[in-house]
Amino acid sequence: MASMNILIIILIAAGGLYLGGRWAYQRRQREALLAAPLSAAHKAIVVKNVPLFEKLPDALQTKLEGLMNRFLSEVTFFGQQGVKITDDIRVTIAAQACVLIVNKENRWFKSLKTIHVYPAAFKSKLVGVEGHVHSERDQARSGESWAKGPVILAWDHAAYGAFAAHDGQNVVMHEFAHQLDEQTGKTDGSPLLDKDHSASRWARVFQVAYQRLRDDVAAGRGNVLNGYGATNPAEFFAVATEMFFERPDELRAHEPDLYGELSQYYRLDPAAWY
Ligand SMILES: [Zn+2]
Repeated sequence: MASMNILIIILIAAGGLYLGGRWAYQRRQREALLAAPLSAAHKAIVVKNVPLFEKLPDALQTKLEGLMNRFLSEVTFFGQQGVKITDDIRVTIAAQACVLIVNKENRWFKSLKTIHVYPAAFKSKLVGVEGHVHSERDQARSGESWAKGPVILAWDHAAYGAFAAHDGQNVVMHEFAHQLDEQTGKTDGSPLLDKDHSASRWARVFQVAYQRLRDDVAAGRGNVLNGYGATNPAEFFAVATEMFFERPDELRAHEPDLYGELSQYYRLDPAAWY
């Protein structure tokens, strides 16, 4: 009986050592990826397809390259409707997604394992989960983000979104803003804030700007933000994120408080890049 107990203790210890060793190995691998520059081939794709990359300050370019290495190593891409996944597709999408977290220490798209890429706007009949709401959609869409699930993108929109860096629309940033938003367990426009970030001020500023957009849309008036952001607070956060990165000057001029909150959230000041 005693020898049985010893055997169990040895087995548990061996299991613990194995798991600990594997965890340490994975951690070292990840740190190596984060510290490495992109390969020359991947770098050439980013420079060609994602003009925003060269606008970033050098220190952020270096961080972005490391994050992209990790992204490309951990996220699996699937082509739909005949799309053949190439480095062009993977790298162009990874760059835009990782810009969102380029200066947020220890932030990662935790629940994201897969990205499905369609050639163009796709018809989705899937039952999606947004927050606690299940919705069925059947209109043509350029992107979707699933809570605890994949991101789905139309490649033509994802590529054009990167190329047209200042039109205020970027489907990859939009869907990955939803991925960040989802990390609280609810997709509601209130993402996880850092400890030094006032949640009450975030809520107040967002509510005021969101209501202004809703009023402007209802009255047929223009607003610096795309009217789609008036759909619900989650869409508002995603739409505001697109403007924050693509037309920061304009967003700051029209919605300075909102710009300030996003700047603190992303720990970035894109208005200074252009
Ligand atoms: Zn959305």
